[in-house]
Amino acid sequence: MTLPPYLSPLFQRFAHAGYRCYAVGGCVRDSIMGIVPQDYDLCTDAKPETTLSLFSDYRCIPTGLRHGTVTVLAQGHPVEITTFRTEGSYTDGRRPDWVSFTPSLEQDLSRRDFTVNAMAFSPEEGILDPFGGQTDLKQGLLRCVGNPAKRFSEDALRILRCLRFSSVLGFSIHPDTARALNQTASRLNVVSGERVAAELKKLLCGKEVRRILLDWPQVLGVVLPELLPMVGCPQHTPYHKYDVWGHTAAAVEAIPPKPELRLAMLFHDAGKPACAFTDEAGIDHFYGHGKVSAQLAQTALTRLKWDKATLETVVDLCLLHDRVLVPTLPAVKRLLRKIGPERLDQLLYVKEADTLAQSDLALPRMEQHQQIRRLAQQILQEQSCFSRKDLAVTGKDLLAEGLPAGPTVGKALEVLLNAVIDGKISNQREVLLQYLREESPWT
Ligand code: ATP
Ligand code: MG
Repeated sequence: MTLPPYLSPLFQRFAHAGYRCYAVGGCVRDSIMGIVPQDYDLCTDAKPETTLSLFSDYRCIPTGLRHGTVTVLAQGHPVEITTFRTEGSYTDGRRPDWVSFTPSLEQDLSRRDFTVNAMAFSPEEGILDPFGGQTDLKQGLLRCVGNPAKRFSEDALRILRCLRFSSVLGFSIHPDTARALNQTASRLNVVSGERVAAELKKLLCGKEVRRILLDWPQVLGVVLPELLPMVGCPQHTPYHKYDVWGHTAAAVEAIPPKPELRLAMLFHDAGKPACAFTDEAGIDHFYGHGKVSAQLAQTALTRLKWDKATLETVVDLCLLHDRVLVPTLPAVKRLLRKIGPERLDQLLYVKEADTLAQSDLALPRMEQHQQIRRLAQQILQEQSCFSRKDLAVTGKDLLAEGLPAGPTVGKALEVLLNAVIDGKISNQREVLLQYLREESPWT
């Protein structure tokens, strides 16, 4: 494995001062896999104060001195440098009762979660791998370092990390580790919302999210109980080939991997079980489920302290997902006016993913979604008028025409806008004023 050049001076400085230093964890795993790491974490036997003084000419951030972490800015790249450490017992399922520094790299590696994350590398010594991480990496296998149930009980976040890595890397989970996931899942309820949200975000954007959702609903249900009624909920309608959870898992995978879009698909049908109704012909209906889904998403994302912008988008998309969209220019202009270009773009992704996860009978809808996308692009490109502020006249112009001040002006603008959107008249000042004089529908 090769390291980026900006790390060389760091390694050299530790070596000159007589300390050991290794790249460790995710960056080693990713490099061996041929993935360019997002960032590099280093570990060393130097104490944090020593690291700070060794790099006094660098910008350093004392990220977590008590836990041994200093962040050094190397040519603009933040590099976390942590002193080798061991951890005491975990009584609260969240954090160790104590941490202490150790001169042993192997001890440091033994506290790490999975064998593929418990490898270190230095240019002199190469890869150090006391727990068989390289073999597991080759096989695409997630396996806890040490006793899985003990490790998951110590820090329950590791349960979600396991599912996250499996989703993102496409790795399978070793049977012993998988068994421990089920045994310890309930402990996830002690982990803070923010930490859960950070892992869920990555899990949902992983390439194998569908498999994770299908295989592990009971574990995910500990942090997102709102999802559980969907599991096994039938939908007898010719438009569906899966039950609600099967459909949801397929729909999540079918939308681009952005957290807000993936979350929207995760929740879009969460209200279905509560709204299910079977007619005399034996066909299931779920009237009004979008609203219930939106409420469930709101409750769940608020509890997990998800950021407001994402929450708002997800709630909105749940509400909108079942709206019937008409592929005509006036209808798309009205839609753009109501929800704006960005939301419409997101809604079309939602509609497409929803359709792709239904039965073949629904597939012709794809053509409609694409038609609406083309119409929206055309409207935006041509800068066609679809809102009052796009009109070639303003309220002032209407007052100058002799309209009385007050609500009449607003009504008149609305009439003009509708005439323009419907293509009855063009959006030119003189045309609009002429139409106003002839029609006078507000008097
Ligand atoms: P990513 O690509 O998401 O950064 P990563 O493996 O680097 O993946 P981090 O959360 O950055 O994950 O953690 C860095 C390393 O610290 C991990 O590779 C692992 O060795 C160790 N680690 C992180 N969190 C835990 C934990 N909860 N329990 C045990 N070890 C952990
Ligand atoms: Mg990392």
